Amino acid sequence: MTPEPAISRPAAFLDRDGTIIEEREYLSDPDGVELIPGAINGIQLLNQWGYWVFGVSNQSGVGRGYFDRDAVDAVNVRIIERFADEKAFINRIYYCPHQPSSDGSGSVCDCRKPSPGLIHQAMHDYPVDLSRSFVAGDRQSDIDLGRGVGIPTALVLTGYGREQQRQLPESNGPDLVGDNLLTVVEQIGKMFGLSGASNI
Ligand SMILES: [Mg+2]
Ligand SMILES: [Zn+2]
Repeated sequence: MTPEPAISRPAAFLDRDGTIIEEREYLSDPDGVELIPGAINGIQLLNQWGYWVFGVSNQSGVGRGYFDRDAVDAVNVRIIERFADEKAFINRIYYCPHQPSSDGSGSVCDCRKPSPGLIHQAMHDYPVDLSRSFVAGDRQSDIDLGRGVGIPTALVLTGYGREQQRQLPESNGPDLVGDNLLTVVEQIGKMFGLSGASNI
C-alpha cells in the first residue's frame, strides 16, 4: 500500500475556552464541558470547506499544579466527542501545560500563547497551507498568536470576548470580530471566497 499523498489544507486554529466551549475557570472535569452553539455550526462549515480544525489552548492549571495532563486530556476527549455527536469534527486539540513566567513578563516555554509553538506543533503533524489559515479566540493572546505567524485573526465575542473588545489596542487588534465562531467563520469565508460546500 502506498500512503495517501499529503494534501495540504488550510487550518483553523481555534482557542478552546470561551471560543468553542463555555469559559470555566481552570476546567478539569469533562462534565463541565458545554459547547458554545455557534461553534458547532462554525466547525461544520470549516469541515465542509476542507479545513483542518485544531484547538490551541493555554492550560496553565497543569503547570500551577491544579490538575494534571490526564485531566486536560479527558476534557479534550469529551470536547471532541461532543462536537462529533453534532457532526462537527475537530482534528486535534493542542495545549500548553506550562505556567507563565513568574514575573508575568512572558513565557518560559515556546508554546504558551501568544508564542507560536502550538501552531508549529500542528504544522509538524499535519500538512497545513497557511495561506488561508486563521486564528480565532476570545483574548488578545489569541490575536497576538495569529499576528505572530502572519495569518488573519478573529475575535469572538463569546467567553471574555466582549470584555476584551473594550480593551483592544489602537493597533494590533483583530482583523475581524464576530458574535461567535459561526459569524467569524462566515466572514473568513467571504475573505477567502469560500461558500457552501467544499471548494478547497
Ligand atoms: Mg479563551
Ligand atoms: Zn508551553
